[in-house]
Amino acid sequence: DIAVRMEGVDKHYDDFHALKKIDLEVRSGERIVICGPSGSGKSTLIRCINRLEEIQGGRILVYGRDLTAGSAAVEAIRREVGMVFQQFNLFPHMTVLENCTLAPRRVRSVSREEAEATARRYLERVRIPEQADKYPAQLSGGQQQRVAIARALCMNPKIMLFDEPTSALDPEMVQEVLDTMIDLAEGGMTMLCVTHEMGFARKVADRVVFMDEGEIVETAPPSEFFTRP
Ligand code: ADP
Ligand code: ADP
Repeated sequence: DIAVRMEGVDKHYDDFHALKKIDLEVRSGERIVICGPSGSGKSTLIRCINRLEEIQGGRILVYGRDLTAGSAAVEAIRREVGMVFQQFNLFPHMTVLENCTLAPRRVRSVSREEAEATARRYLERVRIPEQADKYPAQLSGGQQQRVAIARALCMNPKIMLFDEPTSALDPEMVQEVLDTMIDLAEGGMTMLCVTHEMGFARKVADRVVFMDEGEIVETAPPSEFFTRP
C-alpha cells in the first residue's frame, strides 16, 4: 500500500528551482527522515505533499489520489495528512482544547462532545491532559509542540508530516517532543520528518533521504547511512 508517491516533481519559486524531478515513494506505515543542508528543499518537499505549495511539474499521489487534480482532492488530502511546523502555529486566542477541536468541528462536522472527547484522548497520549483549558502562551515550547501534534492527530490523519518540529525549542524540551514522535512511530503512523535529530533518525527511520540543491542525492536505511565515511 503506497501512502505517498512523488513522480518527477518540479517546484520553482519564480526563477529559483527548489525541487528538481523528485521521485519518492512512501509505503503505508513507513517512517522517512529527510535531512540535508539548509536551503536544499526539505521543507518545500513536505509542504508540497499537503499542497501548501503548488508544484510546476510531475505529480503527487496520496493513497492513489492525484494532488494536482483540483480543489476537491486538496480538501481530502488535508484531512488525511497532518502537519506539524517548527513554530507550533497554534491559535493564540484559543485554549488548547479549542485548538484541538476547531478543525474536526469545522471540517468534519464532528459534534462538540465527540471532538472534545477525542481531543482529551490525544492530549492524554501526548502527556499533557491537564493543560486542556490553558492558552498556548501559558505553556512551554515543548508543551505547545505536543499540543500541535495532538491537534493534528484529532483529524485522524493517515500520514503525519513534521517540519523541523524541535528546531525552535529550548534544548531541554527537545526530548519530550521526540518521545511523542517515537510513540507515534511505534504506533504505526506513516511519517515524513524533516529533522536534524540523528538519534531520532537512527531509532525510528526506515529510510533516511538526503537532499542537496533540490535533489534527493541518497536514500538509505539509517544503519547504512551513519556508518558511511
Ligand atoms: P530547507 O527546508 O532544506 O532549508 P526550503 O525548502 O525551506 O529548504 O527552501 C529551499 C530553497 O527555496 C531555499 O533556497 C529557499 O530560500 C527557497 N524558498 C523557500 N520558500 C520560498 C519562497 N516562498 N519564495 C522564494 N524562495 C523560497
Ligand atoms: P524553514 O527552513 O523552516 O522552511 P525558512 O526560513 O526557510 O524556514 O522559511 C520560512 C518561510 O519563508 C517559509 O514559509 C518559506 O516558504 C519562506 N521563504 C524561505 N525562503 C524564502 C525566500 N528566498 N523568499 C521568500 N520566502 C522565503
